[in-house]
Amino acid sequence: MNKSYDVAVIGAGPAGYVAAIRCGQLGLKTVCIDRWSAQDSSPALGGTCLNVGCIPSKALLDSTERYHNVVHSSGDHGILVDSVSMDIGVMMRRKEKIVDSLTTGVAGLLKANNVESIHAHAQLGANRTIQLQDVNTGDSKGEIQAKHVILASGSVPIELSGMEFDGNRIVDSEGALEFADVPGKLGIVGAGVIGLELGSVWCRLGAKVTILEALDDFLPVVDHEIAREAARQFRKQGLDIKLGASVENANASSRNVQINYLQYGKKHQLTVDRLIICVGRRPFTDNLVTEDSGIKLDERGFIEVDEHCQTSVENVYAVGDCVRGLMLAHKGSEEGVAVAERIATGYGYVNYETIPSAIYTSPEIAWVGLTEIAVKASGQSCNCGTFPFAATGRAKAMNDTAGLVKVIADSQDDRILGVHIFGPHASELIAEAVVAMEYHASAEDLARTVHAHPTLSEAVHEAALAVDLRAIHRVNRK
Ligand code: FAD
Ligand code: NAD
Repeated sequence: MNKSYDVAVIGAGPAGYVAAIRCGQLGLKTVCIDRWSAQDSSPALGGTCLNVGCIPSKALLDSTERYHNVVHSSGDHGILVDSVSMDIGVMMRRKEKIVDSLTTGVAGLLKANNVESIHAHAQLGANRTIQLQDVNTGDSKGEIQAKHVILASGSVPIELSGMEFDGNRIVDSEGALEFADVPGKLGIVGAGVIGLELGSVWCRLGAKVTILEALDDFLPVVDHEIAREAARQFRKQGLDIKLGASVENANASSRNVQINYLQYGKKHQLTVDRLIICVGRRPFTDNLVTEDSGIKLDERGFIEVDEHCQTSVENVYAVGDCVRGLMLAHKGSEEGVAVAERIATGYGYVNYETIPSAIYTSPEIAWVGLTEIAVKASGQSCNCGTFPFAATGRAKAMNDTAGLVKVIADSQDDRILGVHIFGPHASELIAEAVVAMEYHASAEDLARTVHAHPTLSEAVHEAALAVDLRAIHRVNRK
C-alpha cells in the first residue's frame, strides 16, 4: 500500500472515528487506521469506549440494576416476585451483542462518509509518513502519506508494581467486565469512577465488595456535599469503602488474592476471591511515533498539544485520552470535530469549561463546571442553592428519592459556575445545566425557565430558585 490522503487519523475510538467522520463530511480524503481486534481477529472499531469501556460497563450496570430492583424494591410497588435468579451468561451475551452492533455501526458510518478504514498498527515518522504493520505478525503493510495527521491513540489501565494483572485473580477494568461468575469476595483498588461503577455491578449480584482508596477524601473531584451523600448511599448499598487505605501489594494464589494495605499508618491484610485494579489510565503511545517525527510527549507520556490540539509538528494534531484533560469519550469526540473543522475551515473550538462528567452508579452522579470549594479557593464568592429529590413528586412516584441538586452561582452577577447532581438520571439531567452554562445563563435564567411537572428536572429548577432563597417546595434557609 502506498497512498496519499488529505487526513490520516490514527485510532478509531470516540476521538478518532468522530474526527474521521467529520473530515469525510467536510470533503477531505480521509483514512482511519486502527489496531483493535475482536476475539476472532477481525477489526473492532470504537476503541476502549465501545469495546471495553463506556458501552459494556453501562450494559452490565443496566442489567444488574434491573435485577437489584426486582429483588429489593419491586415489593414496594406491590409487585410480588416469588423467585428471581440471574443468568450471568445471558447478561454477558447481551452486553457482547450491544458492543458488536455498535462497532459494526462505526464501520458503516465511516464507509458512508467515504472514510477508508485500515486494520493495522500505524507509526508516524518524519514528514507525515505513516508506516503500517500487520497487528498480528508485525509485518509491514506499506506506508501512506497525509497532508494532515490526527493522533487519537487513547489510553490503557495503569498497572502498579506488586499487583500486576494476571487476567484471572487480579484484573483491570476489561477483566472485570468478563467474570463468568459472581466472586464471593471482591476487592477493588481505587474508589474512582471505575471502582464505583464496576463495584456496583458485582455488589448488586451478591459479591461482598471492599474498595480500598488511598485518599482520605471520597471523590474529591465531585462537590463535597454531593460526595458526602453519595458515600452514605453507596455504603448503605453494601459497598465497603475504606478511605486512607493505600494498597502496597497483592499476591494471587490459585484460590484467592491476599492484599496488603496501609491505613492511617497501620498495616492491614484482606483476602478476596478476585481483585480489580482501577487506579487511573495512562496515555497509550507505544510505537506510535518515531523519534524523527518531532512529536513531543510530556513527562507523563501525554502527547503535548496547545489549546487547539496542535502538536509540536505542523499539521499534526492529537485528541482524546492521549492528550491533557478529562479522559472522557465526549471530550475526545468534541476535540476530533474541532480539529477536523480547523483543518477544513481554519476554525474549530472546544469549550473545556462546560464538559459534563457522569458516574453511572445508582443513583447517578453528574456535574459540570466548578465545585463550591474550587470557586472559593479561586477567591470568588458564590451563592449555592440545593434541592433534595425527596421533595419532588416524580422521584417519590418512582420510589427513587435519594440525592440532591446543587447550583452554584457567582454572587456578583449570578452567572452559573457549576451544577452538581446526585440522583436518578443525573447523567441526563446535567444536559440542561451544560446548555445553560454554554449560553452563560444566570441562576435566575434557570429559575425563570418553565419545567414540566412532574419531572425530575423540577429539582434542577428548584435548586436554581434556592440560589436566591426562593425555592417553593422546601423551606429556604440562609
Ligand atoms: P480509545 O477509545 O482508547 O481509542 C484509541 C484507539 O486507537 C484504540 O482502538 C486503539 O487500538 C487505537 N490505537 C492506538 N494506537 C494505535 C496505533 N499506533 N495504530 C493504530 N491504532 C492505534 N468515558 C465516558 O465518557 N463515559 C463513560 O461512561 C465511560 N465509561 C468507561 C468505562 C470503562 C470501564 C473505561 C475503561 C473507560 C470509560 N470511559 C468512559 C472512558 C472512555 O472509554 C475514554 O475516554 C475514551 O474511549 C477515549 O477515547 P479515545 O478515542 O481517545 O481513545
Ligand atoms: P480514577 O482516577 O477515577 O480513580 C483512581 C483512584 O485510585 C483514585 O481515587 C486514586 O486515589 C486511587 N488509587 C491510586 N493508587 C492507589 C493505591 N495504591 N491504593 C488505593 N487507591 C489508589 O481512575 P479509574 O477509576 O481507573 O478511571 C480511569 C479513567 O476512566 C477516569 O479518568 C475516567 O475519566 C474514565 N472513566 C470514565 C467513566 C465515566 O465517565 N462514567 C467510567 C469509567 C472510566
